[in-house]
Amino acid sequence: MTETRLTRRCVENLTPYTPGKPIEEVQREFGLTDIVKLASNENPLGPSPKAVEAIRRAAGDVWLYPDNDCYHLRAALSERLGLPGGQILLGHGSDELIHNIGLAFLAPGDEVMMCSGPFSQYEFTAKLMDGTPVYIPMKEFRYDTAAMAQRVSSRTKVVFIGNPNNPTGTIVTRQELAELLKALPDSTILVMDEAYHDYVDDPDYPDALALVRDGRRAIVLRTFSKIYGLAGLRIGYGATTPELADALERVREPFNVSSVAQAAALASLQDGDQVARTRKVNREAKDYFYNEFERLGLEYTPSYANFVWVDLGRECRPVFAELLRRGVIVRTGDAFGAPTHIRVTTGTPPQNQRFVAALEEVLGAG
Ligand code: PMP
Repeated sequence: MTETRLTRRCVENLTPYTPGKPIEEVQREFGLTDIVKLASNENPLGPSPKAVEAIRRAAGDVWLYPDNDCYHLRAALSERLGLPGGQILLGHGSDELIHNIGLAFLAPGDEVMMCSGPFSQYEFTAKLMDGTPVYIPMKEFRYDTAAMAQRVSSRTKVVFIGNPNNPTGTIVTRQELAELLKALPDSTILVMDEAYHDYVDDPDYPDALALVRDGRRAIVLRTFSKIYGLAGLRIGYGATTPELADALERVREPFNVSSVAQAAALASLQDGDQVARTRKVNREAKDYFYNEFERLGLEYTPSYANFVWVDLGRECRPVFAELLRRGVIVRTGDAFGAPTHIRVTTGTPPQNQRFVAALEEVLGAG
């Protein structure tokens, strides 16, 4: 009797997602109460008070299914992004949108280009659909767009670019993107993952939405999890061409964005002060980290996002464990193929100081 295979073959090549360690888990494990979590690039200021109020108002209606089309939020994003509502994408986190890109476009064997040590969801989506991930090594923690341009072919179905990239915080510039675009076949879908878009303040940062407006096969992804502080509600958005939006709409789960998330996101868009405050706190936190890393003799990669990628010059795992014992959670680089790096999210000044003091103590002791 032949044994029937339980899972699809590709499932054996998948590993479950490992998130940044949750606060409660560290509290339980180490008997600590005061935890600083700088591990998941969340907004340390929390959501906008307007969003919290909208969540309260929406709470009584959760017995109803949400608006499947996200009418009001779609209209607000359409106006803000300068694209028709039909070209706006909404998902249960931008993670879901990345997943749906796989469902809609990847056939077995299709090549999916990404950097080495990529944000995990790019690789997950490629493997889940039996696609072939093609990893292009980074150069000094930046995308090597010249190498990407050389490697693309008619077999390249999707190219993922994190801009800024997670975990390195670096960007692909206008010029680099323009060069890469010259080499991309028309059949290739370029995904510009701009989860950290709102933190960038640099004239060299490309306008990815212009690609969509120009009708290129491009998908721009953004999220309410980061600058808007709504990670717990799981809501991401994006924009693409009518052709690609139509395909993504076909594979979308019904009611994929909760009513509470829609209400909170809409209110967040109306709170410019919250965004400005967050940007300022983030800029100051990065300056503080840079100074302290220099003082400690640690090499870091200047970041365009709300986290910093820093080389500890020694194995990161034991340092991570010692930081945990001191109630500080960061992300280790080994998950991204960089065993001496950590990624630390910017926090409030007291959180940042606690992290630096703990790091200094651990490095001094080691
Ligand atoms: N893209 C990048 C580069 C990210 O860092 C993240 C969050 N870690 C996401 C996408 C997913 O964000 P979300 O699903 O919360 O919208």
